[in-house]
Amino acid sequence: MKRINWVTAVFLLSTPVGAVIWGGFHIHEYGVSLAEVVFFVVYLVITSMSITAGYHRLFSHRAYEAGSLVRGLYLLFGAATFQDSALAWSADHRSHHQNIDTEGDPYNVRRGFLWAHIGWLLVTDHIEKRRTTVPDLEADWMVVAQDRYYDPLALFMCFGVPFLVGLAFGDPWGFLLWGGLIRVVVGHHSTFLVNSLAHTLGHRPYEPAFSARDSIVTAVLTFGEGYHNFHHRFASDYRNGVRRYQWDPTKWLIRSLEKMGLVSNLRRVPRERIVLARMRSDEHRLLERARECSQDAVESVQAQLAEISTAVESAVSRLGELEREFVRVRENAAGVSRERLTQLRADLGAARKEFREAWRRWTRELARLPENLVPTPAVG
Ligand SMILES: [Zn+2]
Ligand SMILES: [Zn+2]
Repeated sequence: MKRINWVTAVFLLSTPVGAVIWGGFHIHEYGVSLAEVVFFVVYLVITSMSITAGYHRLFSHRAYEAGSLVRGLYLLFGAATFQDSALAWSADHRSHHQNIDTEGDPYNVRRGFLWAHIGWLLVTDHIEKRRTTVPDLEADWMVVAQDRYYDPLALFMCFGVPFLVGLAFGDPWGFLLWGGLIRVVVGHHSTFLVNSLAHTLGHRPYEPAFSARDSIVTAVLTFGEGYHNFHHRFASDYRNGVRRYQWDPTKWLIRSLEKMGLVSNLRRVPRERIVLARMRSDEHRLLERARECSQDAVESVQAQLAEISTAVESAVSRLGELEREFVRVRENAAGVSRERLTQLRADLGAARKEFREAWRRWTRELARLPENLVPTPAVG
């Protein structure tokens, strides 16, 4: 029997209504000032990225390490989003990863888009299952303190800070509306989209068995959390958009903090594992289509892919070895001859070229193969 989580339910359902009514009234009476909009955007970015870079990639997944200054800022500004404490948030999120698409997943998308988006928050059953997955966070006094004093902290950071900043600008109510109420509603639904839209829209290049999907649309709406198929496959990686050009401001923030010396040990899954996952997923998709045609088609796909997939595997593993060797040599630069470095650079260049060519062949082959996969006409 599900019990309604009344405080959360009233808050989540009344804030959007309040934002529309008060927002409509305020804009009608006083218009919109540039300062209000700038504060809204800045506070939205700071607080939402405290969730994506802090609650999510640091506290839930330990994808990198951060000193007390950064952890403290994440915990303070994360509280302003009214998404519960980092401890509770991470406990739910770790259950989501461990039990994806099953009953144990608190925001299981198989129960429907709306359930994954907001429905699960309106009932209490997930709360009773918390706290078994976060012993490491319970050992962090800052995380524990944020959890203990969460309510007053969240109220102050969510509404108190915008009001006080607004006082300094002579517009406390406008700042409270934009930086407090409207911002918290937008921040909520941006995060909620990761649980609903990122499990519905897009494609699955790394793990076809998961509902999680990659989509630039979700990535833009969620500060880079939209490459969700990659994320569920490689959750310990600090990146979600693993390609250099993929829209992932959270990974850029983490990397900038690293350059400033504020965070360290960014975890990256080796390229070999990523490429292999990608190939297995492509192969799985093609074989599914071939199965709809005939057993001959399945065998023909397997035969055609075998040689080229071996070529990609060996090229990517050679490249990985050389890259690791290069890092080792560079760290030890004093004891290495110039010739050795030059040779290593040349080998690396050749290995990159070999890998690029093998991968190009793989994608060409994949694009060509489906032409042969014409379904067998139904008999009779
Ligand atoms: Zn997910
Ligand atoms: Zn995650």
